[in-house]
Amino acid sequence: QVRVGVLALQGAFLEHVNILSRLPNVIAVLVRRKEHLSTIDALIIPGGESTTIALVAERSGLLNSLKDFVQTKPTWGTCAGLILLANEVHKTKKGGQKVLGGLDIAVNRNQFGSQIDSFEAPLNFANVTTSDTDLFPAVFIRAPIITSINSSDVKVLAKLEHNVGQTDASAVVAVQQGHLLGTAFHPELTDDDRIHRYFVQIVTQILNEKLKHAKT
Ligand code: GLN
Repeated sequence: QVRVGVLALQGAFLEHVNILSRLPNVIAVLVRRKEHLSTIDALIIPGGESTTIALVAERSGLLNSLKDFVQTKPTWGTCAGLILLANEVHKTKKGGQKVLGGLDIAVNRNQFGSQIDSFEAPLNFANVTTSDTDLFPAVFIRAPIITSINSSDVKVLAKLEHNVGQTDASAVVAVQQGHLLGTAFHPELTDDDRIHRYFVQIVTQILNEKLKHAKT
C-alpha cells in the first residue's frame, strides 16, 4: 500500500482525494501540517491559486518542509501545483512569488489569458495513452505552460495537439523529472484516472528501488 498525500491548503484537493480513493492499494491523506509529511510516501499539489497556496504554506510553517519533501519524494503538481514545482516562474506579480522548485523548467502563469479562460483538449500523454483513439481529456483552467526545459533530465510527456488562441500546438503541458511530475491541466476534474495510476506507478517503483537498496 502507498500513502499519497494531497496538499489541502487551497484549491481542488478533494477531487484528487476522490480519484485516489478509487485506486487499489492507495491511501489518500490530507496534508495540512508539517507532521503529515512524515506519514506519506508521495504528495500531490493541486490546482488552485499558486500565490495563495504558497502564502498559506508559509504562514502555517509548511513551506520549508515542503521544499525538503519535494527534493527527494515523489511529488506531482497539477496546474498551480506545477507552478509551485517550477524553478522559474514568469508573468507573476511584482516582487516575485515563492515556489518550492525542483523541476528544471520555466513556466508562464495564466498563459491563455482571459480570452480563453478554460478549455478541454485531448492529449497524447507518454506512458499513459497508447493510440490516437484513447487520448487523455485534459481540462485547462487559467493554466500555465512550460516555456523552457533547462535540463536533459526533464522528459516531455505531453504537448498541446492544436493551437489554442495565441498558443501554438506543441506547447509543453506535462513533464517528468525523475520523481517529480508536472501537468498544466487538471486530471482530477475528469473521470479518467490514468494519470493518477501512472503517478502511483512511479511511487511504487521508487519505493521498491529503495527497498532493494536497503536489503543489499
Ligand atoms: N492561474 C493559477 C495560478 O497562477 C493556476 C490555475 C489553476 O490551478 N487552475 O496559480
